[in-house]
Amino acid sequence: MMHNTQPFALTIAGLDPSGGAGIIADVSTFVHFGVRPAAAITSLTFQNSERVFGATHETADSLRAQILPVVEEGRIAAVKIGMLPTAELVLEIARLLTETDLPAPVVDPVLQSTSGYALMEKEAVEALVTELMPLARLLTPNIPEAETLTGLQISDEADMREAAAMIRTMGAQAVLIKGGHLNDESERSAIDVLDGDGDVKVLTGEWIESPPVRGTGCILSSAVAACLARGMSLEESVVAGKEFVAQTIRQEAGLTQRIASDSGNTAGR
Ligand code: PLP
Repeated sequence: MMHNTQPFALTIAGLDPSGGAGIIADVSTFVHFGVRPAAAITSLTFQNSERVFGATHETADSLRAQILPVVEEGRIAAVKIGMLPTAELVLEIARLLTETDLPAPVVDPVLQSTSGYALMEKEAVEALVTELMPLARLLTPNIPEAETLTGLQISDEADMREAAAMIRTMGAQAVLIKGGHLNDESERSAIDVLDGDGDVKVLTGEWIESPPVRGTGCILSSAVAACLARGMSLEESVVAGKEFVAQTIRQEAGLTQRIASDSGNTAGR
């Protein structure tokens, strides 16, 4: 009998029951890229497309119990880590990454929702910096997240490069700072700075004018993990991930042919 040889990617993230972000967005992205999804929940959140109402978090034990049996089967080719609300969970993930042969993860430092709800406690951010960053294959902060992690103020490409270099000295193998939140509108043309192994690339993309689309950080980091699982290089994975996010934003904003003609309007959701 032929076995399915498609690689698995594992997302370790929060569950957003409305499907806009978190595990559901990650799993859909893995499937889009032809990678089989595995998932462990860090937090069961209560939210809809407008706002977050609360969450109940997993414990270190329940997170370990979800992940270990899956890891022991040895089929995980890439890992994406999203919402890690407590220091307890950050430390447990760091232990699991050190003790097992899980691949170095793509870490999306999810600090707060687009609507402003804190998804990570302060102690958890500290633990992320000291314990998890040094184990990351790639860290994918947006500008506000990079500012929190480095203490720098970031308002242009030079600041993004400086923050990226600093995050690498804090231990991450590579960092992608996403420029979508730059204050300077003229620089906003979706520039991202990828600093990998000392090699800095500025990636530019089309700026798509649209209302905020939820889950883009989740989608980008899981797309990169999926492409890594398929054996693509880090830079190829980031470029493919960016393109998929752009396509998702265009679709959400009703800018694609299919959505525009299906719904007869261009207002998105
Ligand atoms: N909820 C969960 C479980 C998430 O993982 C994230 C982001 O990663 C969010 C909410 C925030 O998403 P958004 O920025 O779309 O509000």
